Amino acid sequence: MSQCRELLSQHNLGLGPDLVNTTAYVLRLSSATWEAETQFIEALRTCLTSELTAKGPTFDSLNGSYVLFDSNKKVLISRTTPSHELLIPPVGSSWADQEIGINPISECFASRTSLCCDFTLKSTNTTYKMAAIPVFLGSGEWLGVFAFIGDLEQNQLDIDYLLYFYTIGLSWFSESSMKVEVELARAFERDIKKQEMLILSAKRLHALIDTDSVLMEVVNNVKAVFPYVKMEVFLSQDYQSSNELIKPLDFQGKENRACTRAFMDGQIVVERSLSASSNIKVAVPLSGKQGVYGVLSIECEEDFFEQRDIEFISMIADFGGASLENAKLYEQSYMLINELRLINEITQRLNQSLSLNEIFGFVSSELVEIFGAEYFCILQKDKDSDKLTVQASNLPEMFQEVCSIHSGFSGVMYSTKEPVIISDYWVNPKVKSRLMELTNSRSLIASPIIVKEEVMGMILVVHQKPNFFSYDNYKLLQMLSGHIGLAMTNASLHSEVKRMVITDNLTGLHVRHVLDEQINISQKKDFCGSFILIDIDNFKSVNDTYGHQVGDQILVQVSSIIKNSIREHDIAARWGGEELAVYFPQINKEQSLRIADRIRTKVMKETSPLVTISCGVSDWNWEDDNISVESLFYRADMALYLAKNSGKNQIIVDAAKE
Ligand code: GH3
Ligand code: MG
Ligand code: MG
Repeated sequence: MSQCRELLSQHNLGLGPDLVNTTAYVLRLSSATWEAETQFIEALRTCLTSELTAKGPTFDSLNGSYVLFDSNKKVLISRTTPSHELLIPPVGSSWADQEIGINPISECFASRTSLCCDFTLKSTNTTYKMAAIPVFLGSGEWLGVFAFIGDLEQNQLDIDYLLYFYTIGLSWFSESSMKVEVELARAFERDIKKQEMLILSAKRLHALIDTDSVLMEVVNNVKAVFPYVKMEVFLSQDYQSSNELIKPLDFQGKENRACTRAFMDGQIVVERSLSASSNIKVAVPLSGKQGVYGVLSIECEEDFFEQRDIEFISMIADFGGASLENAKLYEQSYMLINELRLINEITQRLNQSLSLNEIFGFVSSELVEIFGAEYFCILQKDKDSDKLTVQASNLPEMFQEVCSIHSGFSGVMYSTKEPVIISDYWVNPKVKSRLMELTNSRSLIASPIIVKEEVMGMILVVHQKPNFFSYDNYKLLQMLSGHIGLAMTNASLHSEVKRMVITDNLTGLHVRHVLDEQINISQKKDFCGSFILIDIDNFKSVNDTYGHQVGDQILVQVSSIIKNSIREHDIAARWGGEELAVYFPQINKEQSLRIADRIRTKVMKETSPLVTISCGVSDWNWEDDNISVESLFYRADMALYLAKNSGKNQIIVDAAKE
């Protein structure tokens, strides 16, 4: 005690209010084991005793109360003598400044310097001796306040004791504050390290262009600084990650309310658990300029977490959010480029092909390749009816099937002209689909093939798994169907032009050069063939009598009789004007004469107005010396000439061959 008094006198101090706010005392604990009372007391005892034993009473001889508050003024541990029970709140509750009035403990909280003085509790008019000392952890972080409370009437020893702590505080003042500065410098250094890490991380994040790496960087950074927290990342969009910490955000689930709120509001949400475990949950949104992509969720014991930790994590989350956005944009543009490349390739291939069958074949293979389709159908609308025909499908039951434009998904698309996406047919089978039922499928993407606002057909792609096709698949199919429509139109136009080139407009028979070519081919590969040249008798007078239009109708009627009288591979053509011709491959003159006569008889009976025809027949066989198209024509022409000159309405067979 004498030492204590000596110290006091050295500093020229005495008891009383004049001591308030004069100086600081720093209690430093070498480890962060304060959470257990015994450990704390042990640490405190060691800390104080090592300094005090040489100078005065020991920690254990204190006869009064002690209490350790955390930085929020909550009592962490305490030992209370009965006379102080009114003053010291129970463990877990807070120091109530408002009720007690200004006091050394609250002053110590405010100034973080040590204080020792009398304090009178107004409600009971009791005066106590109090010493309050700020407590710092070895790391330099402020833990809270440790306070001793003694009674005014207490024996001198205790009062001395309180004084003693205070005095020690004074004697250590300069040294301690320096030490605090060192600690603070260390803390500052740690902050700088955190900042450096943040900058490095920001740089790394900036360079990352794939979502997975960005998420891993965020997760690893938080883990490195807060190894003891429970961390999860929730993403708003479908995302498959190999990392178990990365999960989809469940908007319906009640368990994750903090994360859902953080996602919706784009704000940090801090949730303190009401249970005794005093856990804290911090949900930090991962947001960019265009929206929120996910939520970083941190959970740990509240005591481990300070405001500035939240700030640090929110900074990482900010960088992470911006980088996620970059990665998403990059992925999107990469996908767009790929889509464009794909569409470019496909349109090039489609444009190369002018055959509908080739187009359907190519599209079929692409549907399987691009969309991973299990089954598909390509339907085409019939020009002249309300029917759709399945032109391509990898389902044999559906191929060449004819359906109505009013049924199934095709019917829906026909009437709405809109594409369809079904993520699970089983959940909502509003539209009955034969394709879905037959294949037991749950996912569907389908698009109408529209050209000039008209539905030409549709493409349906299905899979047995639910949610199989992505929205991008759906958009891509829609885009492709536009190009497929154009290719189909081109192919149809091309075949129409081709048909027009080889078909006579009025009669529907081939034009003459087709006949030339076919005879040529036949003469190279067949043994024989015959040729009839047909001329309508007195056609000029038909025209003169009934007019040209009726003349045209007669031409059509005669042509139709010819078409109906010959086989599929016989070739009938309009030779020129009102002269028609037929070539019969592999048929000799006797047979063709019979056919010619059938035609002649039919014409004279069935045309309206009635007309007659004259025919010249010629033939060739492989033994002839001169086999040529010209010779065949010439001989038929001669025979026809004879028929005309011998009274018309008759058939003359080429004399040279008789
Ligand atoms: P015939 O053959 O019996 O000797 O007498 P014809 O009156 O038929 O005489 P010719 O073969 O010399 O005349 C053919 C006529 O057919 C001349 C032309 O006006 C007419 N004609 C040719 N092409 C067409 C056509 O596409 N439509 C119509 N309406 N008339 C045509
Ligand atoms: Mg003629
Ligand atoms: Mg004639």
